[in-house]
Amino acid sequence: MKSIFSLAGKRALITGSAQGIGNLLARGLAEHGASLVINDITQQRAEQAASTLTALGYDAVGYGFDVTHAAEVEKAIAHIEQEIGAIDILINNAGIQRRYPLTEFPEAEWDRVIDVNQKSVFLVSQQVAKYMMARREGKIINICSMQSELGRKTITPYAASKGAVKMLTRGMCVELAEYNIQVNGIAPGYFATEMTEALVNDDAFSAWLYQRTPAARWGKPEELIGAAVYLAAPASNFVNGHILFVDGGMLAAV
Ligand code: NAP
Repeated sequence: MKSIFSLAGKRALITGSAQGIGNLLARGLAEHGASLVINDITQQRAEQAASTLTALGYDAVGYGFDVTHAAEVEKAIAHIEQEIGAIDILINNAGIQRRYPLTEFPEAEWDRVIDVNQKSVFLVSQQVAKYMMARREGKIINICSMQSELGRKTITPYAASKGAVKMLTRGMCVELAEYNIQVNGIAPGYFATEMTEALVNDDAFSAWLYQRTPAARWGKPEELIGAAVYLAAPASNFVNGHILFVDGGMLAAV
């Protein structure tokens, strides 16, 4: 019997996957048979990351484009679909963090956080969904956050953007489900990556985290792979509009 977790013959585009969680998820999908399109804002970083994956024996190409730029996104998705092949799986992963107290948050930084974290999900999904709808098949996974549900000092725009990604997931599910497209979210708890490096190195923050998280530790990025494979694979064909928290129990605890 073909495994319900097999991604053989499928191609995945992962935005912002030259490093961090996106890169790891790309490897996880490739381990389960998927071909990869690695995206980053620069072509050089996208190509570099793809060649590292190719050297490991995975099928990967790099394609650099800015996920916040509508015209670039449209051109890139058309190019990938026509020159590389169908996008069966899209992971909207690109994201940034900026930290300022609310009253000091520069408007330009608010705009950048909202554009990269939120608008990009709309722009990239809109283009990819057109092709998926024509094929009547597809998987879209949006990377959400604890801040899709919970606030935290100094990162209010990030929380606003990730709350919006949760609702984009549900809205897209409602519009696309009849085309056999499943749109779900993964909400990572606290994972040690480049983005959280400052927090990992902050002993006071780590002590708070151990107390606040029932599992009493940082997440290891590879612990997100199972959720991504599940939501990309036939195993989840009737799961739609769901946000899967991978958080060591944090959201369950007061
Ligand atoms: P990361 O290491 O900073 O990786 C983010 C990637 O996105 C980078 O490769 C970055 O490229 C790329 N990127 C940024 N702006 C882009 C743009 N406009 N177009 C294309 N690519 C762009 O972050 P991460 O920790 O892996 O986070 C990945 C996702 O998980 C984000 O959505 C984040 O919000 C979410 N998340 C992370 C955690 C955590 O604990 N780390 C927790 C919850 C959710 P450059 O470096 O070249 O700019």
